Amino acid sequence: MCGAVHASDIAILGIHRKPPMIDHDAITGLCELPLAISACPLGAVKPATVKNSAGEDVKSVKVTAERCMFCGNCYTMCPAMPLADPDGDGIAILVGGKVSNSRKAPMFSKLVIPFLPNTPPRWPETVAAVKNILETYAKDARKYERVGEWAERIGWEKFFEKTGIPFTIKSIDDYRLAYDTWRTTTQFKFTSHIK
Ligand code: SF4
Repeated sequence: MCGAVHASDIAILGIHRKPPMIDHDAITGLCELPLAISACPLGAVKPATVKNSAGEDVKSVKVTAERCMFCGNCYTMCPAMPLADPDGDGIAILVGGKVSNSRKAPMFSKLVIPFLPNTPPRWPETVAAVKNILETYAKDARKYERVGEWAERIGWEKFFEKTGIPFTIKSIDDYRLAYDTWRTTTQFKFTSHIK
């Protein structure tokens, strides 16, 4: 349920790690270029005249890779900009969200495992990671406690300790406007665990 990743006890999120690949042969017929350009929240997509595979000049776009955060928004507007890539794509695990207002206010989940490989058809690494979190929670939590409530009660430091999940810098919020998202981010604010 990708739309509720922020509010799930344990969420499995498919992620990209590479910028879109542009099909310059197909883009003019498939996409409204201004829509593809304005779809990028980071201004990474710009208009460009490039050569297609037949050596002709075509109106297309270029992507500034260093600005891209691999969100896939451009692809939703322009199918000639796919991001899917067997090596780049993977899975992130988020933990501790809930919508319910009972006992505690609703909570956003936090990114605890930034990347696991994409290994269909059975995704053994993802299954093992979820099983580990679930079994640690089942052993340690109080009755009726949700995963996030348990993690907050024992402390997130202890959550990483008990589950044996390494805490990495990827879970830290370094967004430059973080002050605005201080109360809404899904990520961690402390750095005491970075070694
Ligand atoms: S994937 Fe996202 S950040 Fe990257 S170019 Fe497309 S819209 Fe912009």
